[in-house]
Amino acid sequence: MFELKLTDEQKMAREEVRKFCEKEVRPYTRALDNEEILPYDIMRKYISVFSPITKDTTVEEVEKFREQKHKNIIADSLMSIEVCKSAPSLSLAMGASTELCAGTIMNCGNRDQKEKYALPVLRGDKIGAIAITEPTAGSDVYGIKSTARKDGDYYIINGSKTFITNAPYADVIVYYAKTDLDAPGHKGMSAFILENDMPGLTRGKPFEKMGMRGSPTGELFCEDVKVPKENLLGTENRGFYELMETFAEERAWGVVMDIGIVERILEESLKYARTRTAFGQNIGFFQGVQWRLVDMYVVLMNCYALLFMTSEIRAQGKDLTAVASASKLYAGEAATRAGLDAISIFGGYGYMAEYPVEMFMRDAKLVEIGGGTTEIMKIITANMLLKDENPPLCPFDIPADPFITVREKRKNPDK
Ligand SMILES: Cc1cc2nc3c(=O)[nH]c(=O)nc-3n(C[C@H](O)[C@H](O)[C@H](O)COP(=O)(O)OP(=O)(O)OC[C@H]3O[C@@H](n4cnc5c(N)ncnc54)[C@H](O)[C@@H]3O)c2cc1C
Repeated sequence: MFELKLTDEQKMAREEVRKFCEKEVRPYTRALDNEEILPYDIMRKYISVFSPITKDTTVEEVEKFREQKHKNIIADSLMSIEVCKSAPSLSLAMGASTELCAGTIMNCGNRDQKEKYALPVLRGDKIGAIAITEPTAGSDVYGIKSTARKDGDYYIINGSKTFITNAPYADVIVYYAKTDLDAPGHKGMSAFILENDMPGLTRGKPFEKMGMRGSPTGELFCEDVKVPKENLLGTENRGFYELMETFAEERAWGVVMDIGIVERILEESLKYARTRTAFGQNIGFFQGVQWRLVDMYVVLMNCYALLFMTSEIRAQGKDLTAVASASKLYAGEAATRAGLDAISIFGGYGYMAEYPVEMFMRDAKLVEIGGGTTEIMKIITANMLLKDENPPLCPFDIPADPFITVREKRKNPDK
């Protein structure tokens, strides 16, 4: 059961990440934003210091470690929050690699796939990406046009992807394509593991972006890419269902990113409100400024409450889909608003790159879009509310997670 108390070990881990970020991340945050440097050296350093996964770690040990992590997501989230407070884009690049790419392989892959592809990404030796979005299909995941045609012991993949985090540099890519062209809607989609040197796989230059500029984003093009059948991830034609699990985790992680963003801009705004003077007073004296600060604090407390709730739901093996969507919807919009409020508190200085709040506001906007837009989060939540006569409105009534149940059954078929 959740306790509002950290163990000494958890406190130490958070402190260590804080110190690491002060020394290894903050001096480079602006350079990341200006795209002068790539995030991968810092990412590798972070992983080498904080990840328990080494060259000798076995797949079974990683599985156990991930199980523990999911049961104690708060500790892990507090570490991510520290990274986000320093550079949200670093957190995005790292999460897309270790959670979205390697995490999906750990969730859906077989032992060989985990060993060959997930472990090197989790160790930081390789960079991972997950490729779902296409030029004509973002929110409309059903509408992807990439195809994977079976040809003997191979699948031949054709199509293109866009807006893919880490695409310009990824070594391992989880790529979604249609395997049954006649199947309607979400049916007939499968996931494949692609390697960067597969003939026919090319990539575009990193995009110029508004925010999260330290996380390279780009396109992928597949022209008759020959992928061994061993690289089919999960069950053929079940890719969409398995993707839903990744999406739920990504959306819950969005709240963690928003906490880091809001906490940092609130810290900066408080410092500024205590020192900047106008009309012979610190601006923190003015009620208009105080209200903005209080609004930010309320957002932060709500986001933490959502984190505690989603963590507990996940730890208890309950269905995260609707709660993660509603949480991301709230946190995403609230964090962007908090970013705009921070800029107002700083006045003209808030608009200048000399202070960090404008970057955090630009970064916050992405969390509203990536992993499903606000509107899509509303649709998912509305579907949950309307599909049953008695939907689980109280978090205590949320049913078991169908994905975890399926995975447990796969592991223990006799149960
Ligand atoms: C920096 C960045 C990193 C990203 N990283 C990745 C990644 O690593 N992997 C990946 O696969 N994708 C990634 N994405 C893509 C992201 O998931 C999509 O941009 C997002 O899902 C929205 O899709 P879209 O851009 O095609 O917008 P569209 O789907 O075209 O939507 C445009 C607008 O229409 C609205 N809309 C669409 N359908 C509906 C509807 N039914 N009802 C109401 N409104 C609707 C949307 O909410 C939005 O406001 C990334 C995007 C960005 C910007």
